[in-house]
Amino acid sequence: MQRVVILGATGSIGLNTLDVIGRHPDRFEVYALAANRSVDEMCELVARHSPKIAVMGCADAAQALKDKLPASGVTEVRSGEAAMVEVAEHPEIDIVMAAIVGFAGLRPALAAAEAGKRLLLANKEALVSAGSVFIDAVKRGGAVLLPIDSEHNAMFQCLPSDEFARPTMDAVEKIILTASGGPFRGQLREQLHKVTPEQACDHPNWSMGPKISVDSATLLNKGLELAEACWLFSRTPSQVEVVIHPQSIVHSMIRYTDGSVLAQLGNPDMRTPIAFGLAWPDRIDAAVDPLDLVAAGQLDFLAPDLDAFPCLRLAMEAIALPGGMCVLNAANEVAVAAFLQRQIRFTGIDQVIEKPLDSVSLAEPSDLSAVEALDSESRRQASEMVAQMSMAESGIGD
Ligand code: NDP
Ligand code: MG
Repeated sequence: MQRVVILGATGSIGLNTLDVIGRHPDRFEVYALAANRSVDEMCELVARHSPKIAVMGCADAAQALKDKLPASGVTEVRSGEAAMVEVAEHPEIDIVMAAIVGFAGLRPALAAAEAGKRLLLANKEALVSAGSVFIDAVKRGGAVLLPIDSEHNAMFQCLPSDEFARPTMDAVEKIILTASGGPFRGQLREQLHKVTPEQACDHPNWSMGPKISVDSATLLNKGLELAEACWLFSRTPSQVEVVIHPQSIVHSMIRYTDGSVLAQLGNPDMRTPIAFGLAWPDRIDAAVDPLDLVAAGQLDFLAPDLDAFPCLRLAMEAIALPGGMCVLNAANEVAVAAFLQRQIRFTGIDQVIEKPLDSVSLAEPSDLSAVEALDSESRRQASEMVAQMSMAESGIGD
């Protein structure tokens, strides 16, 4: 029996994880669930899964949860980041699903890495921001880091089976990272000026949380994923190629030196990579519809349009700068939150990101406090830019 902690339990990845786990009560037990402020959702999850511990982001939310739960319950309610770190490194648990959105998930994910857990990584922002600090923690702790991001999970499945034994990686010529292109694929930049948060979050293939949905629409997500692939598989950015694949059936590919290209295919359903991560090296039922290639009909592949989607170009530039992806990620989190609150336009997101990349003094962070300092400085500068832009604009969404 594997004991599982789900960080970000109330989110899209968290709920999909609980769906898969719920189908295999003989293999997995929910030990702890963590979320930020969604008290009603957490209350339902606690009733259904009876975890030993439920952690909320703040004391108020934890109190509200306690008030809602029956006094006779088995679940201890706790709050705050320190409690999330404690459950992630708890000696009684085997698997940590890191599915908190954004930089906020870094500390608990690092704790799971240091404690040598099986770490299922959905929270790409944590790895991309901390880079070598994250990878060093995985190595030091002896953790098994398995990517849940569908593209990286596909890469992992297509790489040599002893993928972490480096010599076989010599035969890998290129990682081909696929992208759906998001809801605005094929549009010109001038057509994107009046995009609303609702339109940006309406992804054609995937159902995801609002932040990653906006990242998919700007293609910034593919920039994060480019860096993610480099860290996970020890590649340089030039060894990873981004290809637009609108159907989201081919989740990524590996091209070998002999010309072979291996791909992983499947319906766009996150329960496939989640089930893979939970059971690896076994395979378990994930209740995913079988792929019907005849119904899919056509698989297309196109080059990304870096003029219409400058966020991807900025990410490709940032990845070459020391600490550049940490700065870019922090600024993007500020920009996306401002866009979702209608403070800036969709086409303002890249402008907010560009500012700190130009002005923060860049250096490769060597420890967690350096990562956090770089993240804070970038957020400060991005917030200033948002304030300037929202003063200059009014009636956004008109
Ligand atoms: P959601 O917005 O659906 O869920 C986010 C989760 O994180 C919620 O449980 C939320 O709790 C929790 N959370 C947010 N802030 C904090 C905090 N400060 N402390 C503790 N918990 C917090 O996001 P997704 O599930 O879509 O994405 C999660 C991660 O997985 C992201 O990093 C994303 O990039 C990645 N990912 C997602 C994919 C998808 O298909 N959704 C695919 C590939 C990667 P609350 O509900 O209380 O706010
Ligand atoms: Mg992805």
